[in-house]
Amino acid sequence: MSRGFRNSDATQELSEQATSDTINEILEADREQATHAADVRAHGGYGVCEGCGGSIGEERLEAISNATRCVRCQADWEQANRF
Ligand SMILES: [Zn+2]
Repeated sequence: MSRGFRNSDATQELSEQATSDTINEILEADREQATHAADVRAHGGYGVCEGCGGSIGEERLEAISNATRCVRCQADWEQANRF
């Protein structure tokens, strides 16, 4: 089944607008998360999941230095906080 985004210039424009809105929301969320992560770090919570209190894991922290949740809790959080 086609999503129909390429049918006309109008839908193309709409889909580009939606994309840039989404990017802005993601950038905004990233900024908030970076601020939040710095705050957590300042209080000695770096590397500890704020969802379950477990270890986030070195590999994940290397990949995403602003991570404040383990993979499982992040997935749960994203489910609950869809844009
Ligand atoms: Zn967790």
